[in-house]
Amino acid sequence: MESGDMGGVKAPAIFSIQNFCLHDGPGVRSIVFLKGCPLRCVWCQNPESWRTDPELAFKAHLCIDCKTCVNTCPQQAMSAPGIRDTQKCDGCFACVENCPSEALVCFGKYYSIDQLVESLRPEFPYMKNTGGGVTFSGGEPTLFLEFVGQLSKRLHEEGIHTALETCGYFDSEKEIGFLSDIDLVLFDIKLYDEKAHRKFCGKSNKMIKQNLTRLSASSLGGTGPVIWPRLPLIPTVTDTTENLTGWAQFLKNIGISFLTLVPYHNMGDGKREWLNLPLASEFPALTEKHLQVSIDLLEKNGISCFAPGEEDWAQTDFKAVSDPRTVT
Ligand code: SF4
Ligand code: SF4
Repeated sequence: MESGDMGGVKAPAIFSIQNFCLHDGPGVRSIVFLKGCPLRCVWCQNPESWRTDPELAFKAHLCIDCKTCVNTCPQQAMSAPGIRDTQKCDGCFACVENCPSEALVCFGKYYSIDQLVESLRPEFPYMKNTGGGVTFSGGEPTLFLEFVGQLSKRLHEEGIHTALETCGYFDSEKEIGFLSDIDLVLFDIKLYDEKAHRKFCGKSNKMIKQNLTRLSASSLGGTGPVIWPRLPLIPTVTDTTENLTGWAQFLKNIGISFLTLVPYHNMGDGKREWLNLPLASEFPALTEKHLQVSIDLLEKNGISCFAPGEEDWAQTDFKAVSDPRTVT
């Protein structure tokens, strides 16, 4: 499939599918990573997820300087290995195919729903045996909720549980209906203070708080997916007393008493270099002691804390895990 339009439904470019994952929902899961994100969190380790369209990356350390990319580009857009005129480049990715050393790579590929279901099918037995399923991540999969909703329905027909990870920044007036086709929403929260959220994530958090409130109400009312919040613990940014107590109060007010803490690890800037992006901000390493201080603070404020993959899903109405829905 070569375009992002699938029978009138906007289709995402997928930049990765990872199998046998244990950290993004119950059981053994496959994670489908969709390209496109409205936020720009300064600690982001997946910069290849930002843009919605497939994009070219150059791994200079693998280049053998054969100049095949320069000599075979149909648009004569490549002036030197990895250096191209983006006005001339039409995204054919012939350079990726022709590169003998995998120094040029393309992040993102379009799939139809049928193609995705078939590529996930070999994993279905592991998912079913463990109460697992498929998690849509990114990037921000709510940018493509109609597509994701249809894909989720197809997976339900196969008896597969579905989850979606979101930053919460989406128009719930327009999009919330599609979420009813998902079993579980892993809802990422970051900065409680709006100014700080703008500073570190690039956008206001007002809509995020509204969406979390709304989704929690529909979940508690039995009309929406299960909502499970997650907070990346970034030392000196999201692990402050003000931030943690702000979120603890907010969550309690909307009827949620649990949270997954996702520890920050600095994984290096390789992908930013490949994409010619500015390097990420660096933060101190998260120590066990700091992690424990955050857990103690949240628990003192009435929030049970979990590590990724160690959640107690029984805290929620999780019938769908042991008894996957069949949608006809
Ligand atoms: S084709 Fe690949 S290895 Fe050859 S010059 Fe271009 S990027 Fe380098
Ligand atoms: S994607 Fe196509 S047009 Fe763009 S630099 Fe590569 S070969 Fe040239």
